[in-house]
Amino acid sequence: MSATIIDGKAIAARVRAEVAEQVKAFSTQTGRVPGLATVLVGDDPASAVYVGGKQRACAEVGMKAFDVRLPANSSFERVAEELAALKANDEVSGILLQLPVPDHLDGPTLTNMVPAEKDVDGLTPVNTGLLSLGLPGLRPCTPQGVIEILTQTGVELEGAEAVVVGRSNLLGKPMAQLLLERNATVTVCHSRTRDLREVCARADVLIAAVGRPRLIAEGFVKPGAVVIDVGMNRLTPEEAGNKSGLVGDVDFAAVAEVASAITPVPGGVGPMTIAMLLANTLQAAHAQAGMVP
Ligand code: NAP
Repeated sequence: MSATIIDGKAIAARVRAEVAEQVKAFSTQTGRVPGLATVLVGDDPASAVYVGGKQRACAEVGMKAFDVRLPANSSFERVAEELAALKANDEVSGILLQLPVPDHLDGPTLTNMVPAEKDVDGLTPVNTGLLSLGLPGLRPCTPQGVIEILTQTGVELEGAEAVVVGRSNLLGKPMAQLLLERNATVTVCHSRTRDLREVCARADVLIAAVGRPRLIAEGFVKPGAVVIDVGMNRLTPEEAGNKSGLVGDVDFAAVAEVASAITPVPGGVGPMTIAMLLANTLQAAHAQAGMVP
């Protein structure tokens, strides 16, 4: 194996430690504590685990955590009412509506009810527009986490060929915008891309956010490229054999032979999402207090 394995856990721990320091400074200056509210509708076990992780992380950095849980059969009006109450609550700096919401609810409309200044997921049309215009705003956590990994690893983005595989509103599109903001030359691939292998093989920085286990094989990667695997795919016990059932979009073992650096799954991009959520909550608290961090 020739690639450096990028330790996302260690980078996330550094971000969290910095946030904890800044939370202390914020509290000393303002007499207040940043607060993050998570809203979970229903009892999807995976969502409950994610929300639990966010709540714990919040407490660890000294922020106040608001844990709103609503039954799966909650009406649209009931969830909207809760979001309105959090919007009006001065102790709440950031609001995160855990997705997906149950099928009978309109997730995008509910997400849009989160006010832009408390939208710590960075997914409302206002924050999406600000990103697109290159104006300050709250950026989506996972793509922002990838940028933090690249920055802390010392990867030069200016003028680099960056290829993003995936164009979702959550990951691929904001990822491309953030890379563009850092002056990379960006190509975005998707399911209709004609020769994915050939396009990927041009990349100095290759980012996979697809949701297809091990789609990115050795031949997709230029020797010496930096490969960031955002994918988190759960294999069946039969597929996994006696290994961990969580794999990325990149064939890690094969690609590590040609890349110069690579993120593993788990332990790469995954830990960055919560770290950047905390950073966003702090940023929102500063903005609401009229302060620049
Ligand atoms: P998504 O909404 O399903 O989007 C997948 C994207 O990949 C789409 O743009 C799709 O193209 C493209 N695609 C699918 N098959 C392809 C193929 N064979 N060749 C090229 N492109 C293909 O998924 P997502 O929400 O962006 O999530 C992507 C992955 O990231 C998933 O594994 C998810 O679990 C993971 N994830 C990780 C984190 C983290 O913290 N690390 C956070 C969230 C999600 P079309 O647009 O043409 O359909």
